[in-house]
Amino acid sequence: MNKFGIFMNFWEKNWAADHAKYIRKAAAIGFDILEFQAQPLLDMTDKHLKSLKALADDCGIELTYSLGLDPAYDISSADESVRKGGIDYLQRIVRQIQKMDGVLLSGVSYAGWGSPNYIVNDKSAIVDRSVASMKEIIKTAEDCGVTYCVEAVNRFETCVINTAAEALAYVERIDSPNIGVLLDTYHMNIEEPSIADAIRLAGKRLTSFHTGENNRSAPGRGHLNWAEIFGTLKEIGYTGRIVSEPFPNMGGEVGRDIKVWHDLLEDNSEAALDAEAARLLAFEKEWMSK
Ligand code: MN
Repeated sequence: MNKFGIFMNFWEKNWAADHAKYIRKAAAIGFDILEFQAQPLLDMTDKHLKSLKALADDCGIELTYSLGLDPAYDISSADESVRKGGIDYLQRIVRQIQKMDGVLLSGVSYAGWGSPNYIVNDKSAIVDRSVASMKEIIKTAEDCGVTYCVEAVNRFETCVINTAAEALAYVERIDSPNIGVLLDTYHMNIEEPSIADAIRLAGKRLTSFHTGENNRSAPGRGHLNWAEIFGTLKEIGYTGRIVSEPFPNMGGEVGRDIKVWHDLLEDNSEAALDAEAARLLAFEKEWMSK
């Protein structure tokens, strides 16, 4: 059975927020998973981590984590000191996740989040440095029982992994049971000639899945072909996590980093957002149960 989740910043305009509030909210709406940025875990005491984990258990919520890796910790950097710092930083994040019995870290977790502002005629050296760094990080992930999931994202957010084919080539080079691929409908809509073929290509390496519309509104509000998307997930026998990641709100750190320059909903009050979350959950469950 697929588990359905939502990303906390559907509601919150800053990356760090009152996680406990959203654990309760996700559960009340009927989600199985709450996902949020992993960086704030580094600022939490062990007591805080354990209290969030206990609350999530009480609510029947699995916590999963995503990263838009701070370029200061870019593990694909040509600067060895930045790379080493990044490896250490990501290993520390993986250990924080283990403290909460977490099993999944995804996102732009293999390079600094953002695309180059210099000419790139050949990106192989950038990818090679990321792979070399990841081979060290993955040992920690294996020790911690965490699956490190690389997310193919669009050209404006990285040059390292833009397509399912690139994600697969990357994880094959890491060669670990603790590395997987995450595909996201919003990014695939920009980079893939066929979203269905990209999902088929990922096949059994597809470890988690993000949903969002062409403009990052919630599934069902834009022009993506959800019959094809969910139909292909069923065709490949995908029983994993489906985490919706809409960013409908202008403003805050999230608006700045995701480039949301207009509100995507007519009403973005908390009550309206709650109703929209419930609607998208019902929409996704209906498609997957067809
Ligand atoms: Mn995503």
